[in-house]
Amino acid sequence: MIIKQVIDTLEELAPLNYAEDFDNVGLLVGNANNKVSGILVTLDTLENVVEEAIAKKCNLIVSFHPIIFGGLKKITGSNYVQRVVIKAIKHDIAIYSMHTALDNSDKGVNAKICEVLGLQNTSILIPQTGTIRKLTTYVPKENADALRTALFHAGAGNIGNYSNCSFTVDGTGSYQANAGANPYLGKIGETHYEDESQISITYCRANEQKILKALFNNHPYEEVAYELQTLENKNQNIGMGMVGILEKPMDEEEFFGFLKEKMHVSCIRHSDFLGKKIKKVAVLGGSGSFAISAAIAANADVFVTSDLKYHQFYEAEDKILLADIGHYETEQFTKNLLVDYLTKKIPNFAVSLSESKTNPIKYF
Ligand SMILES: [Zn+2]
Repeated sequence: MIIKQVIDTLEELAPLNYAEDFDNVGLLVGNANNKVSGILVTLDTLENVVEEAIAKKCNLIVSFHPIIFGGLKKITGSNYVQRVVIKAIKHDIAIYSMHTALDNSDKGVNAKICEVLGLQNTSILIPQTGTIRKLTTYVPKENADALRTALFHAGAGNIGNYSNCSFTVDGTGSYQANAGANPYLGKIGETHYEDESQISITYCRANEQKILKALFNNHPYEEVAYELQTLENKNQNIGMGMVGILEKPMDEEEFFGFLKEKMHVSCIRHSDFLGKKIKKVAVLGGSGSFAISAAIAANADVFVTSDLKYHQFYEAEDKILLADIGHYETEQFTKNLLVDYLTKKIPNFAVSLSESKTNPIKYF
């Protein structure tokens, strides 16, 4: 197996175009055509992680956070980022980073937190916009069924928990094939009228290449007439944070005890208790201050996230309980998520969970 195959598998879980624009995701170090000897999964790629990969004979590190973020102008080993890159290259170790691509996946970081907390009826807290596209195409009526089915198989027509969604209207299409054409129906130099179906179907931008391939492979015409549009609709399947319901309501102190136990934390920085039961829980792994208003708008009783600053705790405004449990702590189970996913998708292959400590923050 080559690195590219592992990457393709990871991109089924978190396509890279799910990532935020500011991010730096994908293969950061190494050659995608190299054979994989083993995979090491980590949250951060530090020097001790590269050393662990060497010791475990893993030449691919799948890292949640990207080690190269703002670019590298010199590689002299003067800081930890440069030393990691040098060490990885010296030992022919590739580094692949997923970061916000996995944050935005509905099976990613936040889905894992929801699973750990046993949240039910989960949904995306801040659904992405601009990622739902619409294809409209025109096809002879008798070919409409086969084309629709092919588009469904390629991943088009999924809306929330519904699949095979499309809209078809019948009408008359016209065209004239000119010299050099090889028309499926009609004659060269004559205007041809055909009973056609107009099919409209939505899909996620990440699947566009697959959808277009299915369109061209299953449409009988030499020239396929089609239109693509980006919709303003919110994507219910991609986005930051998640919200869900606790199995049973708890009072605030009871919930914090539960949170500490489930998320392995020793202390929680939090806003004022509001004296009410916790039922609806919003979560966002990593730095989540930007989502406080979304968590309030979602009527969550508590927002579990990290990296909140002093003034941001005021934003609770007695409407929500803010709980900052630490950046590493919110994302810690992401490693397990990736190891479980890869082990299931690539059985009988060496996929290891990194044992190196990478949390830079200590508690006294
Ligand atoms: Zn993070």
